Amino acid sequence: MSNVIVIGGGAAGMMAAYTAASNGHNVRLIEKNEKLGKKIYITGKGRCNFTNACDFDTFINNIVSNPRFMYSSGRAFTSQDMVDFLENAGCRTKIERGNRAFPASDHASDVTKALERKMKESGVRVDLNTEVKKITSLPAGGFTVLVRDMNRRESGKHAAAHGAELHADAVIVCTGGLSYPSTGSTGDGYRFAKDAGLDVRACSPSLCPLTVAETDYEELQGVSLKNITLTVRECPDCMTADETALVNEGKKSSRNRKKNGLIMESEPGELLFTHFGLSGPLILSASALITGGLTEGRHYELIIDLKPGLTGEMLDERILRDFEGAQNQQVVNALGKLLISALRPVILKRAGIAPETKVRDITKEQRLKLVGAVKHLIFHVTGTRGYNEAVITQGGVRVSEIDPKTMEARNCPGLYFAGEVLDVDAYTGGFNLQIAWSTGHAAGTAV
Ligand SMILES: Cc1cc2nc3c(=O)[nH]c(=O)nc-3n(C[C@H](O)[C@H](O)[C@H](O)COP(=O)(O)OP(=O)(O)OC[C@H]3O[C@@H](n4cnc5c(N)ncnc54)[C@H](O)[C@@H]3O)c2cc1C
Repeated sequence: MSNVIVIGGGAAGMMAAYTAASNGHNVRLIEKNEKLGKKIYITGKGRCNFTNACDFDTFINNIVSNPRFMYSSGRAFTSQDMVDFLENAGCRTKIERGNRAFPASDHASDVTKALERKMKESGVRVDLNTEVKKITSLPAGGFTVLVRDMNRRESGKHAAAHGAELHADAVIVCTGGLSYPSTGSTGDGYRFAKDAGLDVRACSPSLCPLTVAETDYEELQGVSLKNITLTVRECPDCMTADETALVNEGKKSSRNRKKNGLIMESEPGELLFTHFGLSGPLILSASALITGGLTEGRHYELIIDLKPGLTGEMLDERILRDFEGAQNQQVVNALGKLLISALRPVILKRAGIAPETKVRDITKEQRLKLVGAVKHLIFHVTGTRGYNEAVITQGGVRVSEIDPKTMEARNCPGLYFAGEVLDVDAYTGGFNLQIAWSTGHAAGTAV
């Protein structure tokens, strides 16, 4: 029996602690919050979309960063295994649209309670309000883990001096990423990894609303559009400041860019306009593909097609039909059947047509501009809304540093990493929690 310390009582940590304890180890789970699974409570809008009941290929295809890293642990503990785990722990589950799995009660707290029950049964000791400050690897093997009791009010540079030193044969770091820091995810695991000599890929907020340069869409704030498509491109001048300098000095060709700069072409989906920019499922997916580039200073444009079911030609015919019986109407009213009222002023502005223009005065050229504005409503991304609004962190402990079967650091035997702290992230739909369950299970099994 080994002494195992698991750092972080989120999804990955609870799964790792339970698995290690049920394999006979003496497990201590250390969590700095006053309760376990603080982030789980807010997942799936409080309902916890705890996994996606899809086949393995679909799971892998929904992982944005380093999908291949998940081949082994994802197969060893699948979404069906997680459903079975919760059912066995007394938490009934249900599957909804898009294979999204939830607790039948619609209460995220039931997922945490089920994990707590399982940990109790298997004998995990839980220390709440306890923060790990430092992990030291000992030359003879094993680790000392410096912890601070958060109930004691020491602060400042002497705080660590008041901490206790715990001994462990193995340590599993499950400290999460940087998103929603109020839930306890403050990036401590990256520091632990760097202290152990591991490389950490630069982080950026992902599955996150985007801010845009345009300000001409006030009428649309709060409006949600369904059945539209989104194309994302790197802008033609999408070079970093360093690259631009190289081009200016004649050391690099500006034509050497990714073909068309195409990043994403979506299926019909939903998008939301907010006071700062754009949000909704399509935008969150787009953010996952561009957040790293944005951090590097690249530029992207979002092209919304408001009528993806119609080609430009078909849309023009449709507008002509709508205009036929409305020659004396103002164009803003004649578009009533085609576009919701909030969209009309924005589209007309983009097409350069005054809303009060009589339909009979609209030229063919203006009509084609109208078609263009409907099929290509363009916004230029200025950034993300940051970690306070990001569902997930992109980046983290480089997967090349970690054995994908065991989650053990290749250069530091006995030190394991699982969950969001790793450089693995996925789209929405339950995939990110499944990454936490699978990697946590792998670490708990291997330890
Ligand atoms: C609003 C929101 C909604 C989401 N909804 C979904 C969803 O429906 N489905 C889905 O699949 N994913 C969802 N996610 C993503 C999902 O929550 C994460 O992928 C998952 O929680 C990561 O689990 P983790 O255990 O790796 O990290 P976390 O859940 O962040 O847990 C890390 C824990 O470590 C503790 N900790 C950190 N540092 C220390 C330290 N030094 N000492 C002691 N303890 C420490 C923290 O307090 C925290 O409790 C959502 C995320 C957010 C923000």
